[in-house]
Amino acid sequence: RAKSAGGNRFELADAEADARAITRHGLTTALPAALERGEFFIEYQPLVHLGDGSVRGAEALVRWLHPQHGVLGPDRFIPLAEHTGLIVPLGRWVLEQSVRQARAWRERHDAAGPLRINVNLSPCQLTHPGLVQDTVDILERAGVAPDALCLEVTESALIGADDDLLKPLRRLAEMGVDIALDDFGTGYSNLANLRRLPVSVLKLDRSFTQSMQRFPADPVDLKIVEGIVALAHSLDLAVTVEGVETGAQAEQLRILGCDTAQGWYYARPGPPERLHELALVDAAG
Ligand code: C2E
Ligand code: MG
Ligand code: MG
Ligand code: MG
Repeated sequence: RAKSAGGNRFELADAEADARAITRHGLTTALPAALERGEFFIEYQPLVHLGDGSVRGAEALVRWLHPQHGVLGPDRFIPLAEHTGLIVPLGRWVLEQSVRQARAWRERHDAAGPLRINVNLSPCQLTHPGLVQDTVDILERAGVAPDALCLEVTESALIGADDDLLKPLRRLAEMGVDIALDDFGTGYSNLANLRRLPVSVLKLDRSFTQSMQRFPADPVDLKIVEGIVALAHSLDLAVTVEGVETGAQAEQLRILGCDTAQGWYYARPGPPERLHELALVDAAG
């Protein structure tokens, strides 16, 4: 009996694996048409200055409104799009939409200073030869200055990066585009390597923020964040923290010297109008 129960379990596990593989395959083949049909949309999550609580900009986060499966998060389809190369046109679409959105915010909201836009870049986009020209064209078409844009690249994408890979990022940085190192602290962070990278922002991974949840926070975690912030600031990098879910975390991270924060405590990712409202309330208050 034990054997047959075990057998059933394996069959079940196999069936689940099959279902996942089928979905993966189905999603992968549906991606190009989804882009053409306009099934992707972007949510924006505010970036808040820890010192004064003002909204400084937002990160663009792509979603897929799938006709059968409903709203799918990027973790479900970005890896598939990377695998097939669709990430290049998809990423370009996200950049264009986001930059145009930044322009629209600016038109309605210039009193409180320009809202900046952060856009995630996948490693495949980095190696695509059109990246710099596409970005220049998109900014020009929208009439947005390069310094209103921040491109987020994960630390792992730049590990062991040679000069060829860094060249396009350097050119963008020279134009005034900010480059952020996303999910910092999750990979094999090579702190000495930071000097070589054309980055101006460190985005501390959510795992650091989570360790601030406990009270009192682990003193070693506090020291680590304090050390990273000191190093970042000494290299002229701004520090953004992700995943701030409570006021206590925000306060702790502010005391530790972090510059900007993002997380559910301030707002979940949402439609562009929501960001406009948050920024307006902020400017009035
Ligand atoms: P990321 O760039 O590190 O983005 C932050 C993720 O943390 C987002 O997940 C966001 O919704 C989530 N988050 C924000 N605040 C909180 C919080 O307080 N608590 C928790 N638990 N989570 C929070 P999301 O939207 O699912 O995106 C996941 C990842 O997908 C992103 O991680 C990014 O790497 C990737 N991604 C999203 N949009 C794009 C895109 O347009 N292009 C590329 N290449 N990647 C994208
Ligand atoms: Mg990001
Ligand atoms: Mg991140
Ligand atoms: Mg992350």
